[in-house]
Amino acid sequence: MLANRYCESLNRLIRLKSLEVSVGGLIIGGFSPIRVQTMATTSTNDTEATVNQCIRSIQAGAGLFRITAPSLTEAKNLANIKKRLTNIGEKTPLVADIHFNPEVALEAALHVEKVRINPGNYADPRAKFNAFEYTEQEYSAELIKVEDKLLPLLNLCKERSVAIRIGVNHGSLSDRIMSRYGDTPAGMVESAMEFLRICKKNNFNNIVISMKASNTRVMVQSTRLLVSKMINEGPVYPLHLGVTEAGEGEDGRIKSAVGVGTLLADGIGDTIRVSLTEEPENEIPVANKLVNYFENRETKPVINGVGELPYDPFSYNRRKSIPFDNIGGNNPPVVIADLSYLKEIRYQELEEWGWNFNEQTKNWIHGEQSADYFYFGPANINKISSVDKIPTIFLESIESIDNQVSEKNYHFCKLACNQLNDALIKKINGIENLTILLETSNSNGYADQRSAFVRLMNAGIKCPVIILREYKDSDVETFQIKSASDIGALLIDGLGDGVMITASSLSPKIVCSTAFSILQAARTRTTKTEYISCPGCGRTLFNLQETVSTIKAATSHLKGLKIGVMGCIVNGPGEMADADYGYVGAGSGKVSLYKGKVVYKKSIPEATAVEELINLIKENGDWREKEL
Ligand code: SF4
Repeated sequence: MLANRYCESLNRLIRLKSLEVSVGGLIIGGFSPIRVQTMATTSTNDTEATVNQCIRSIQAGAGLFRITAPSLTEAKNLANIKKRLTNIGEKTPLVADIHFNPEVALEAALHVEKVRINPGNYADPRAKFNAFEYTEQEYSAELIKVEDKLLPLLNLCKERSVAIRIGVNHGSLSDRIMSRYGDTPAGMVESAMEFLRICKKNNFNNIVISMKASNTRVMVQSTRLLVSKMINEGPVYPLHLGVTEAGEGEDGRIKSAVGVGTLLADGIGDTIRVSLTEEPENEIPVANKLVNYFENRETKPVINGVGELPYDPFSYNRRKSIPFDNIGGNNPPVVIADLSYLKEIRYQELEEWGWNFNEQTKNWIHGEQSADYFYFGPANINKISSVDKIPTIFLESIESIDNQVSEKNYHFCKLACNQLNDALIKKINGIENLTILLETSNSNGYADQRSAFVRLMNAGIKCPVIILREYKDSDVETFQIKSASDIGALLIDGLGDGVMITASSLSPKIVCSTAFSILQAARTRTTKTEYISCPGCGRTLFNLQETVSTIKAATSHLKGLKIGVMGCIVNGPGEMADADYGYVGAGSGKVSLYKGKVVYKKSIPEATAVEELINLIKENGDWREKEL
C-alpha cells in the first residue's frame, strides 16, 4: 500500500519499485543499486580533455558520464570520444545532453547509450514567459507537433537500444506548460507526462525521468507528485535525482543532500547526480556518501507507525505552533547550540557559535549566523555566570512538568520519539508553555521523528518542536550530508521550529554554519547570500569556478540575496529561476547581467562584469558595505 501515494512506506525505507532500464547494459531502476553520475565541464569538441575528465570521473566511481552536445559539431565529436574510450577498454555508458535541437539528438543517439532531452525546449522554442490562452483543441494540436518531433528519436533509440532521459528543469518549462500550470511542481510533472505518454503510446519504455530545480522544495514536491502520477497511470519509470545549480563547497553539498536525501530517505530515486561548481570527479564521493547513508537502512526499533500524513506532502505548509520568545509560530526556525558536554564555558565556544564579546560595553553581540540560544547541561550549569546576557535554555524532564504550572514557568523538555506514548500525549496536550526538543536514536531517525511529529499533529499538540540530532562523525563532509538529509527532510515538509545538532567530534564553528546552511537550503531561514551556480559544461565559455569565487568574495557579506552565476546564455537565464541577480556567460569573454529575469546589460566584457554586477546591486538598493 503506497503511503500518501508517493512512497512505499512512511515507517520503513522500502525502495520504490520502478521498471528496469538498460543503459548500455547498465541497469537503472528495479532493485539495481542506485547509480551515481556526473557530467563533463570541458568543451565537447576537445576530445582529449573530455576523455580525460571522463576517465577521472569513472576512476572516482561514476557509473555514467554525461556530455553536452550544443550543436551538430559536438554531437558528431561524441563518436571520437566514444572511440577513444572504447579503445582503452572503457565501457561506462555515455549520456548526451540535448537542448532545443532534435537534429542534434538524432546525431548523438548514434554514438551514446542514453540521450537526455529537456521537454521544455525539445520541440518548443525558447520560452518567452508570455501567457498564451490555449483552447483544448489548440493544446492538443501542440501535442501532436511534439509527437511528430519526438517520434524519429524514439524510433532511432528503439533500433539502437538507446535510453532516453526526460529531464525536466524548473527554470525551462515551455510557454505551453507555463500558460496552463505556471512554473509549479504540477507544471513540471505535466511537462514530463506529456512526453512520457507519447513514449508509452509508441511502445518506447527505455526511459528515465528527472525533476530538477535549484529550489529544494520544488524539486522534492515535483518528484513526489510525479511518482504519484506514475502510480496512477502506471508503470513507475526510474528516477534520476538532482538539485540543479546547487553551487560549490559546503553550500552545494548541503543543498544537494537536502533535496536528494529527502527523497532517498523515502526510497525514491534510482540514479543521482550531485551538481557542484567544481571538477566533475569531486561530485562522486559526495553522491556515494549520500547513497551509502540510505543503503541497507534498517528501522530499529520498529517505528510507532504513521498511517496517513496530516499534511500535504506536495505543497509547503509549516506545522502550526504557539510561539514563545523567538521560537515557533511564524518565527524562522532557531538554532540552539549544545554546550552541555563542556566542563567549562569559555568565550571561544561562544564565539565559534557566532557571538562576539564587546570589551567596552561588556555585552555580547550577535550576528546573522549566531546561535539563538545556548543549552547548558548538568556539567556546566553552575558556571554560566561568566556568560550572562546570553540567551540560554535549561532542560527539564518531561515526566516532571505538570499542566497546572503558572504561565511564567516556561519549560524546555527533551523527548525521545519512542517515549511518545498515549499517556504522554495526554499529559502534554494542552500545555502551552512548553517547547519540546525531539530526539531519536532510531537507525531511521528521519522516519522516527516524522512519525512523532505526525502523532503530535494528530493529537492537536501545538507546542514548538526543535529537531535534535546527534552525530559522531569526525569527517565534515559526511556529517554535513547526514545532518542535511535528516533535518532538511523534516524542514521541507514544514516540520520543526528549530534545530539543535550535537557533534562533539567537530568544531562548534562547523556545526553552527552547517545548521544555518541546512535551514537556508530547506528555504526556511535566510541568513546569507545564496549562490545559484551551474556546474558548467561544454557550453561554458569562462572559468566558472574562478568567477564564482570572485563574486562570492565581493558579495558574500550581503544578506538574503540570490545571485545566479551561469555558464551560458542558452540555459542559464531560465535555470537560475528565482535569482535576484544573474551573471550569465554570453559568448567568449562576454557576460550578460540580469535583474531577476530581465536582462540589464548584454554582452559586456568579462573583465569588468563583476564590477558592473556590484553597480547593479547598488543601483537597486541591495548593497551594503562590509562590516570591518
Ligand atoms: S547553464 Fe551551465 S550547466 Fe547549464 S547548459 Fe549552460 S553552461 Fe551548461
